[in-house]
Amino acid sequence: MDIKKNDIVKIIIGKDKGKEGKVLDIDAKKGKVLVEGLNVYKKHKRPKKQGEKGEIINLPRSMEASNVMIKCPNCGKPTRISHKVTGKVKSRHCKKCKGPF
Ligand SMILES: [Zn+2]
Repeated sequence: MDIKKNDIVKIIIGKDKGKEGKVLDIDAKKGKVLVEGLNVYKKHKRPKKQGEKGEIINLPRSMEASNVMIKCPNCGKPTRISHKVTGKVKSRHCKKCKGPF
């Protein structure tokens, strides 16, 4: 998977299409990403004790990595990634501006 933690991604499919957010976590095995503030669902938290109020909390749910594109920090466009290997260092490059990140 090309996406890493802390990447800014843009959603290209679904109800959050066009929105951007920071990647909080990835699941490389399942090919899923967790993006801050996106694909959230409301979870009703029940009161644990009597007299306590229940609350509704927004939790982000991970989504298919194929639903997002990385936003290039150089040109600011959502892009695909190409990999370059220089010696032992593997770097990612934007396919649009060719810039590394
Ligand atoms: Zn770029």
